[in-house]
Amino acid sequence: MEKESKKVAFYTLGCKLNFSETSTLARQFTEGGYQKVQHHEAADIYVINTCSVTEHADKKCRQAIRKFVKQSPGAVIAVTGCYAQLKPEEVANIDGVKLVMGAAEKGELYKRVVELVEENSTIPEVHSCEITQVDNFFKAYSMGDRTRSFLKVQDGCDYRCSYCTIPLARGKSRNIPIGELVTQAHEIAASGIKEVVLTGVNIGDFGKTTGESFLDLIRQLDTVQGIERYRISSIEPNLLTDQVIEFCAQSAKFMPHFHIPLQSGTDKILGLMRRRYRREVFEDRLAKVRSLIPNPFFGIDVIVGFPGETEEDFQDTYQFLERLQPAFLHVFPYSERANTPTVFMEGKVKDSDITDRAHRLGLLCDQLHRQYYERCVGTEGLVLFESANRKGKMYGFSERYIKVEVPYDKQLVNQLVPVRYASLSPEGHMIGKL
Ligand code: SF4
Repeated sequence: MEKESKKVAFYTLGCKLNFSETSTLARQFTEGGYQKVQHHEAADIYVINTCSVTEHADKKCRQAIRKFVKQSPGAVIAVTGCYAQLKPEEVANIDGVKLVMGAAEKGELYKRVVELVEENSTIPEVHSCEITQVDNFFKAYSMGDRTRSFLKVQDGCDYRCSYCTIPLARGKSRNIPIGELVTQAHEIAASGIKEVVLTGVNIGDFGKTTGESFLDLIRQLDTVQGIERYRISSIEPNLLTDQVIEFCAQSAKFMPHFHIPLQSGTDKILGLMRRRYRREVFEDRLAKVRSLIPNPFFGIDVIVGFPGETEEDFQDTYQFLERLQPAFLHVFPYSERANTPTVFMEGKVKDSDITDRAHRLGLLCDQLHRQYYERCVGTEGLVLFESANRKGKMYGFSERYIKVEVPYDKQLVNQLVPVRYASLSPEGHMIGKL
């Protein structure tokens, strides 16, 4: 079969970093003459970029592999990402897998798949190395719906939170020089994309390998013509410095939108988690942002059911979050991961209690989210509209990440449009008036 007729499909699990990497891999294949198809279609090659944040994520990966093998028997199944790095042999032993690429080898995936297709080999190949040896950086940005791009600015993490396997899967904190990231931002701008989301594992730690800082990075990116908006995907509270906040407050491009992991509202659990701040620091960071930026959107990550978390601790976290009044909560039920110190911790929380606590925080999130939107009704925002026509409606996001619905109009796609917030839809979106 000619290379031009080969179809390739991609399946991504996990975080925005994985999405940006898959998007880059997909561009390599299409630029090489392969035809990109949806993952539910028959294909000659499937590339699976995995996550290993929970047991469930591992399971979803195995299920996806089996589904693709059944869908297209004989296809080249190439697996990369965190699960592939952490358990390469387990992945390779799944029937149908032809290639497993660890963290250091991800950037070579396209080249190796092309060789495999030509060799027509049936023996599974595993390329991986010890995570401590990984120091290369796979440059990546996504080009999904042509309005927003996820730009990978940093990889790996030097922190050692007791529940986390990411440092084992992605290696040490590293980045490429700011100059190269600015070049990538120019490429994104040249493609017509107006919004860039800065992604990484621990992006506040940017600059470890280049002697630069996160503040230097955002100052430089702010000058790129054509990019109208930046969002910081997630930043550790201890790294959200006064200088970073002050810079974002005066920048027209850095949005009043912050995603910050709290994980627990009690110092006891934060200590057990080996987080590098206590709740007073967290509260102080939010107060600093609010002192300089009106009505910011805060999204906060929380883990429920960490070993040792009693009902009283949970209540404490719940009340702390009620007081902080964020606009959104990302709630993660605790899931034990192999090779982390939490395996040996006492005070494991029953699954039913974990589910119950996640449910209660889910309800709190609904309430906080609605309250935030209600506070915004009657005000105005600048909305970047996306391309999808959903039953005559279109959607976009404001500076403060408010999801706004207006009647579909092709002219508005990828435009920044002033919108008045009229009311909430039954689904909880903002109905906008142009
Ligand atoms: S900061 Fe902690 S939770 Fe986040 S990636 Fe690093 S070790 Fe994991």
